[in-house]
Amino acid sequence: MDDRTEPLALVADVLACPLCGADVVAVRPSVLCATGHAFDVARQGYASLVVGRAVAGDSAEMIAARDRFLSAGHYDRVSDAVVDAVPSTAGVCVDVGGGTGHHLTRVLDARPGLTGLVIDSSKPALKRAARRHPRAAAVAADAWAALPLRSGSIDVVLSLFAPRNPAETVRVLGTGGLLVVVTPTPRHLAELVAAVGLVRVDERKEERLNRQLADFEAMGSDVLEYRIDLNRADAIDDVLMGPSGHHADADTIAASLASLPDPVAATVSVRVSVFRAKRADS
Ligand SMILES: [Zn+2]
Repeated sequence: MDDRTEPLALVADVLACPLCGADVVAVRPSVLCATGHAFDVARQGYASLVVGRAVAGDSAEMIAARDRFLSAGHYDRVSDAVVDAVPSTAGVCVDVGGGTGHHLTRVLDARPGLTGLVIDSSKPALKRAARRHPRAAAVAADAWAALPLRSGSIDVVLSLFAPRNPAETVRVLGTGGLLVVVTPTPRHLAELVAAVGLVRVDERKEERLNRQLADFEAMGSDVLEYRIDLNRADAIDDVLMGPSGHHADADTIAASLASLPDPVAATVSVRVSVFRAKRADS
């Protein structure tokens, strides 16, 4: 087996052709569907199951910031909360909008029965995600569109600080599958928000989330909140890795943060919710 496609081979059973929906029959050296559509596997090991024009996703600068920030451990407690929400049964866990695969790697380390898959649209993120864990594959696809996954094939879907696609999520999970969602609360990084005018969390997000998830049963929801001390470089990375990174570069963010103490105390405040798919045929 080619090193490059080994993690992809582990998830071949759950992949579906984004063009015709057929099963995927081979992942070496490119992904082939049963009717002959072929998709590239990048040198770094992720498959591009993209139809039409690719969505660019997070930039290389944003992803580098995310990698540095998460590797420093500031969000380890968020990872731990996600791990706690994932049962230790065997199966496939997909992180939709999973970026560099940081949180999924923590889940796989704690849950040896699971195989992982990161779906993202950012190539710089996928290059990292594809090499992060021996049981985690990475696939380029648009999280807003049809997911290139077989119906009812997935046991757990993670949606961490990421866009949600409830109709596709319930389809790929099938009845009984779990969706774990992490969303920032309005208090998340409030100290940095005030300084740089970050993209604010919509206070009605919770309400909107619940409305979108009519095909799911709410299993539990908790707020995780704690303080972190961030030196200037970490604070810049924390802003750059989020939605604001699409609008401002590191220098602009650094200038906005100049009036804050260094280090600055910031609040991490997220809601961790677990949902069970009620039915997949709606
Ligand atoms: Zn096909």
